[in-house]
Amino acid sequence: MERSSKRLQNGAVGCFAVDIDGRERLVVVAEVERKRREDWSDVIQAIRHDVTAEHDVPPDGIVLVRFGSIPKTSSGKIQRHACRNSFLDGSLKTIASWLVWEEASVDDVVVTPTSSDETVAVAGNLPAGLLELVKTKVRDVARERAGNLKANTNIVTDLGLDSLERLQIANSIEEVFGQRFPEEVLQEIETVAQVAAAVKDHFKDIDAQLGQVSTKVKTNRSARVEIPESDYSFALMPEYVRLQKTKKLLASTGLPNPYFSMHEAITNDTTTIDGRELLSWSSYNYLGMSGDPQVVKASQEAVEKYGTSVSASRLVSGEKPIHRELEQGIADFIGVEDAITYVGGHSTNESTIGHLFGSGDLIVHDSLSHNSIIQGSILSGARRRPFKHNDWRELDEILSEVRHEYRRVLVVVEGVYSMDGDFPDLPKFIEIKKRHHTFLMVDEAHSIGTMGEHGRGISEHFGVDAREVDIWMGTLSKTFGSCGGYIAGTKELVEYLKYTSPGFVYSVGLSPANAAAALAALRILEDEPERVAKVQHNSRFFLQEARKRGLDTGLGNNTPVVPVIIGNSLHALQLSHQLFERGINVQPILYPAVEEAAARLRFFISSDHNEDQIIQTCDAVAEEIEKIDPSYLKFESGPTKVANSIQRTKI
Ligand code: PMP
Repeated sequence: MERSSKRLQNGAVGCFAVDIDGRERLVVVAEVERKRREDWSDVIQAIRHDVTAEHDVPPDGIVLVRFGSIPKTSSGKIQRHACRNSFLDGSLKTIASWLVWEEASVDDVVVTPTSSDETVAVAGNLPAGLLELVKTKVRDVARERAGNLKANTNIVTDLGLDSLERLQIANSIEEVFGQRFPEEVLQEIETVAQVAAAVKDHFKDIDAQLGQVSTKVKTNRSARVEIPESDYSFALMPEYVRLQKTKKLLASTGLPNPYFSMHEAITNDTTTIDGRELLSWSSYNYLGMSGDPQVVKASQEAVEKYGTSVSASRLVSGEKPIHRELEQGIADFIGVEDAITYVGGHSTNESTIGHLFGSGDLIVHDSLSHNSIIQGSILSGARRRPFKHNDWRELDEILSEVRHEYRRVLVVVEGVYSMDGDFPDLPKFIEIKKRHHTFLMVDEAHSIGTMGEHGRGISEHFGVDAREVDIWMGTLSKTFGSCGGYIAGTKELVEYLKYTSPGFVYSVGLSPANAAAALAALRILEDEPERVAKVQHNSRFFLQEARKRGLDTGLGNNTPVVPVIIGNSLHALQLSHQLFERGINVQPILYPAVEEAAARLRFFISSDHNEDQIIQTCDAVAEEIEKIDPSYLKFESGPTKVANSIQRTKI
């Protein structure tokens, strides 16, 4: 702070926290030079800027006091407590101050653009409404800190938003346009006008989107305005038009569409496409349960016994013995009291998160969370904040800062991340959730059956008691070779969900075929831990062989998900096609599913694979990459280049 302005006295700055309006506020008191000045706002701005930029902690109050007046000990050290007391009792010799809580509240803010904003919009050639849209998004996040927002308001220095809040603004603007800011641009934009200009410069077809927004406003005002056809025809919907453009772009590469390829038989270590058998790395049949004769038989018998549907919600008359057996089996396997099953994995997350949390709550999730977690959070109406991938320190900081502002707080992580193949340090997350009195949810879609000696998941991997986690979520579609999802935890949690969760109460029970398949798979998993050992061996072997050949496996960490990062969507698509020609089926993951720099092939490893198949595949991948661009091969002794799915922290 002392360095931020020459007008401040060295060794005469004090910082402390005070509680104002139920929030902890950071206050800075600084002595200024002797010289008289009318306006000290440049000094206040400089402190706000430098503290926020350096520490990512925006000050809430800055008080400049008269030269020689700050409380000090006889040896010249600042007396922070005395300083704080003087601040609270109003006895500081204040020359100038800025206190965020005394600024205008959001309700007082005039939303109509000021003339200077119009000048900025015209000068920057910004489309009508864009500046207002950006302001709305900034206000949504900054709330009372937004004050009288102007085009030249600096989000970092004037509003003091931290990097996560800035990212939240960027994300919400990206959602409106269905496009992403380039990484390097996010680092540079700081004022409202700069954000708007970045939208204009880097997003396509913004007029259509803005037109839509303003048309809606106009329509509300006057019932006589003609409704555009794009508002009642799916074919003309801008979102659909955009999809067509993306598909055209894909087709223009001359490569076959990598989506919806037709697999004509069971997919395990191999698959059949167009009558041709290929080595398969694109399905998460981790333990070979889908297609396993015992699982198939159990499913067939259940259909014969109970029919093809249970024909009702379980709550009313859809309950079958296999439902209860499956749920108790899952709970016992994980090591918790009870479980509930839903008809889909995605809907399990949506329904559970959406139902248990609401307005006044906070959901803090890993920045690479699965779509079902994000959708559930949005549905809940709670505030949502991502933390940097696997960064429990950042989570801890967020909770230290804001936990007390919310009622319930949910922390969500995944057992294995499905794009990157890495996993969180679970004991750290448990320690943090306990300290901050929050709930912890772990999505084990990719870790149940694949981690831990017996496949009991990430809790077994780390040797922690499963009861330390509040909500275990998993899918039946991977390790369990079926379809559906589960929530496991305390009997109270499960009982509450069974009587009230919309996706359970108002939805049909799991079909007999699916329930019986999952139950049979669970019993096999319990009886044959060698399947778990095999998938774990294959995962380690694949990673090791891939790295040996210089493939960039990113964050891959001996789980059955192994990324091979290319960093160029077209090349990833091309590589997948060349491998297909060589009899290997692996899915490319392209922009916008991941950042362009993170475009990749993703390999799912199963217990059905063998070492020969792994060697053959890694050889082929390395050879085909070399044909495209040998610089993609990285022979480094340390960890390979890390380009994980989405890792953006700055607006
Ligand atoms: N969570 C995660 C982490 C997932 O990867 C998936 C999908 N593969 C789901 C939830 C949804 O599961 P399902 O596909 O079984 O609906």
